[in-house]
Amino acid sequence: MFGWVGGSGPLENWFPSAIICKLENGDLIDFRLDRWLVGGVPLCERFPSLFRFAKSSGSKVNDNGFWISEEVEDEHVEDLIRELGGTTPMVRLDDLFIWWKNSSGYPVKVAYDMLLEGRVRGLRLGGSLVKALDHFWKTKIPSKVLVFGWRLLLDKLPTKVNFSKREILSTPIEIVCPFCGLEEEDSDHLFASCSVTFLWWTKFCDWLGFDTALLPVNIFNRLFLLESFCKSKFMVDTSWLFGMAFCWGVWNCRNGIVFNGVILRDFDTVGMIKFVAWEWFLFFYKVRESILYVAWCVSPNLCIRI
Ligand SMILES: [Zn+2]
Repeated sequence: MFGWVGGSGPLENWFPSAIICKLENGDLIDFRLDRWLVGGVPLCERFPSLFRFAKSSGSKVNDNGFWISEEVEDEHVEDLIRELGGTTPMVRLDDLFIWWKNSSGYPVKVAYDMLLEGRVRGLRLGGSLVKALDHFWKTKIPSKVLVFGWRLLLDKLPTKVNFSKREILSTPIEIVCPFCGLEEEDSDHLFASCSVTFLWWTKFCDWLGFDTALLPVNIFNRLFLLESFCKSKFMVDTSWLFGMAFCWGVWNCRNGIVFNGVILRDFDTVGMIKFVAWEWFLFFYKVRESILYVAWCVSPNLCIRI
């Protein structure tokens, strides 16, 4: 007999809450801490007053072979016995820990679905953000760039300011932007408001035919607006491709400076961003006719009509 447990209530810790425990031989499932009984509540939470009688911590289900009821006088004992009644480990099989909604492993997509459903405590996503991110995830770009963009939009990139929040960097000089050397390096500054990257934005938007004056300061709003602009301008839905090409280019230039001391000229940086967008478009949109990079640099709009 076994207990199927799903994390449907408030989640104190999203990862273990997303685990379903299937009791087999009882050697792996923690008797008190894991959610292995019907109802999904660990015994330590269900019967906290009984915990004071525990002789040791971390015992497995199979370590609790019998119950000496006369040693304990507690109003919850009968409830506990009733809850455990009929539960018998199956000796031939190992216990199973199954990721939420998926028995084949731990796919990132499932974790993403959890986030979108607001199941992660402390990370409540607004409706517009959920909608935007849902569309973002369908953008035809390399998966590593999708992950990069996902972290950017949630402000989880290893920027210097984020490192300082974790006390990895501490002095002002350590967290200064590698491009302008004036402001702190957080995502909004690095990808949106820095004087250096804003110059790149200007050239990039000129190329796309997008009015730079419309650019919001916040990077999420900027990318969201750019995505809407591209959808209205191009005959093919490029989703977040151009915004991600820009940010990916900025991030690689930033890493080139931080880790290798390599500084690209403005012209080269914007050219690299255009090149990346061209490569992604050719590869992921499988256009029938080849598009010359020269033509792409002149007018992506004309090329995307193909
Ligand atoms: Zn800067």
